[in-house]
Amino acid sequence: MKAICVREFGGPEVLKLEQVPDLKPGAGQLVVRVHAVGVNPVDTYIRAGVYPRKPQLPYTPGTDAAGTVESVGAGVTTFRADDRVYTATTLSGAYAEQALCDAALVFPLPAHVSFAQGAAMHIPYATAFRALFHRAQAQGGETVLIHGASGGVGIAAVQLARAAGLHVIGTAGSDRGKQLVAAEGAHQVLDHNHSSHFEEALAATAGRGYDIIVEMLANINLGRDLGILAPKGRVVVVGNRGTAEINARDIMTRDGSILAMSLWNATPRELTSIHSALVAGLENRSLRPIIGHEFPLAEASRAHVAVMQSGAYGKIVLVP
Ligand code: NAP
Repeated sequence: MKAICVREFGGPEVLKLEQVPDLKPGAGQLVVRVHAVGVNPVDTYIRAGVYPRKPQLPYTPGTDAAGTVESVGAGVTTFRADDRVYTATTLSGAYAEQALCDAALVFPLPAHVSFAQGAAMHIPYATAFRALFHRAQAQGGETVLIHGASGGVGIAAVQLARAAGLHVIGTAGSDRGKQLVAAEGAHQVLDHNHSSHFEEALAATAGRGYDIIVEMLANINLGRDLGILAPKGRVVVVGNRGTAEINARDIMTRDGSILAMSLWNATPRELTSIHSALVAGLENRSLRPIIGHEFPLAEASRAHVAVMQSGAYGKIVLVP
């Protein structure tokens, strides 16, 4: 089979398509014939060698794949050959024609959901779910600012928060992104490139502030987020690309909280619980992953450039 191999950390050009041996499942494992692969910003940090988690070289990137079951190992009773599935991490890497997986971290893909949409599930939707419900303890009736709503995690957070009965304000940086965020359920959409967007965000709550802010770019926004929190409001840091300065008085006066999360910290049991809820959301169509761009697997390097550019529109996926 063909797989993207990284033999040295570096720029997007280190992603090379190679011929590698076919995979065989061990006990409790299965092999997925990959039809689509989710490209996540973290894949680029790992490839560049700047992320705390460094795989042993050479490695095949990626955690999020969708496809059909090709073969199952001993003891696997949950899936059979040809079942449609998506993965919540893989053992061998997702940027490939086949992926070896722990059967406990593979989930069924409903018939009406495309493989590309399946590949958009794990990192984006599980992160949004964990940020909203495990970390911020979101409740129906609360008001949430999804700060960076046009990308993979943001669209997932908008759909999940709407389905749970929150009042949702989302931000994006392009007209196309703003239209998407509105179409996916935000009650109001703001432009995070406007210098007055914090004032507009506060005005959108009639001056009360936000119960929850899901933050995709904390180094830019965290300091000012604290000034638009409601009493007992909480910010959940999901994305960060630098350092931030805050005035702690802004959270003191509100009994507020700064929370943070990394999906890597979710236990297998938590992941199973989260994905059970996500599969239900796919089935009842409250969750509808948006695919903005598809690249052939061989063009993974172009996808890595694209995922770091502004003007996000849902997910970028690779197609083997
Ligand atoms: P993505 O699809 O590339 O989307 C990036 C988002 O950030 C877009 O909505 C973009 O909006 C927005 N953004 C750009 N400038 C912004 C600003 N000044 N203020 C607020 N938002 C801004 O990436 P993603 O997959 O959604 O991930 C978002 C971030 O979370 C990334 O940094 C990623 O590494 C991180 N992440 C963390 C975890 C975790 O476990 N903690 C898990 C997944 C992702 P426009 O392009 O419209 O300007």
